[in-house]
Amino acid sequence: MKAEIIGVGTEILNGRIINTNAAYIADKLSGLGIDLTFHTTVDDNPAKLVSLLEKALSRSDLVFTTGGLGPTVDDITLYAIGSALSRPLVFKENIKKDIETYFKKRSLKAIPEDTMRQAHIPKGARWFRNKVGTAPGIATEYGKKLVISLPGPPRELIPIFEKGLIPYLKRKGFAGNCWKKTRRILIVGLIEAEVNRIIKDLFSSGPNIILGIYAHPGEVELVLTSKGNTEKAALLAIAKIEKKIRQRLGNYIYGQDHDTLESVVGRLLTRKKKTIATAESCTGGLISNKITDISGSSRYFKMGVITYSNKSKVKMLGVSEKTLKKYGAVSKEVAIEMAGGVRKLANSNIGLAVTGIAGPSGGTKKKPVGLVFIAACGARKKLVRRHKFAGTRGEIKHRTSIAALDLVRVICGPLLP
Ligand code: ATP
Repeated sequence: MKAEIIGVGTEILNGRIINTNAAYIADKLSGLGIDLTFHTTVDDNPAKLVSLLEKALSRSDLVFTTGGLGPTVDDITLYAIGSALSRPLVFKENIKKDIETYFKKRSLKAIPEDTMRQAHIPKGARWFRNKVGTAPGIATEYGKKLVISLPGPPRELIPIFEKGLIPYLKRKGFAGNCWKKTRRILIVGLIEAEVNRIIKDLFSSGPNIILGIYAHPGEVELVLTSKGNTEKAALLAIAKIEKKIRQRLGNYIYGQDHDTLESVVGRLLTRKKKTIATAESCTGGLISNKITDISGSSRYFKMGVITYSNKSKVKMLGVSEKTLKKYGAVSKEVAIEMAGGVRKLANSNIGLAVTGIAGPSGGTKKKPVGLVFIAACGARKKLVRRHKFAGTRGEIKHRTSIAALDLVRVICGPLLP
């Protein structure tokens, strides 16, 4: 089953509005086992839309249009569908009643005359009620194919899609004859090129499995998508490749699917019954912000301090003035003393500390922008890592926070099932 989406609207074509409807529909279709083959966008030009609809119907079973269902002259979608499918538009009394109810409920007395243009749909089409707007969703059959027209505003499109359209597509046999499954595998501590080198041969694992690699600042994401005639077959295809990926990447994999580094670290600390405290310099609280983004983090997060000045490092964390003088604030020695200091101050199992130069100013030849030391101290273990991050101030802070959370994974040890 092949599908495509046509976004209708000058404002989408020129980029003033981002086509979130296409992203939403793409995600839903994937879950329904429907293959999406094209996204196109066209402005409010009837002739262009008619020719695009004809093209779409020549190559796809399901054609979605979004937008252009309003009452104004530039709302051309239904006119174009009527023209491409050679169907007249016919008036529907029940849609008119829905529009009247919509106006009544909002105490809007006079219904503008043009509004009733929206009570016209292609002959033989089925319509889906729009409870938050006036333009209904419309499904027009064309032989064995289907054209589905949805209103542009996402708050109108989404309920129509979920409540009316999905059951309809299932009933009509457009969905569910093919199972699609996805798995995200999340990696930290390796760059994209390195991950690619390790798993390169798995990219051509077969026609029913697609492997994608995506780089994010400080992290790499692998997405496995499989297709099968049954749910079991689709899951099995993923499991086979996933096993190989896990064997090769080992502990560089920190999580899967909806995990985040902070949620995984939270789980790790909870299971190991460990508490943590942070001392941050160049990240200015970003690490503790991330840790506390997780609900229930009070179980393991004891304290976070931002010790930006040398004085505060001495006063709050007990970093020695001698160490600061000898090695400078951005040094592995200071990072270790900061981690030990905050561990003691908070009476936590782990102390985590970062010190670095986020830039863009403040770098020197010996200590350039992006130089960061991260330390984690436990009862027995002390770990410190030196990094040289690239990017803007924000990116350096972000990458530092990711590397710091990753160090917590290392000091805690693996999370055995
Ligand atoms: P209505 O007349 O009920 O508002 P419509 O179908 O005529 O619906 P449009 O006039 O094309 O919709 O768009 C209305 C608004 O919907 C746009 O201004 C925009 O805010 C939003 N919108 C339209 N298309 C998209 C899209 N593809 N992705 C995200 N938002 C969209």
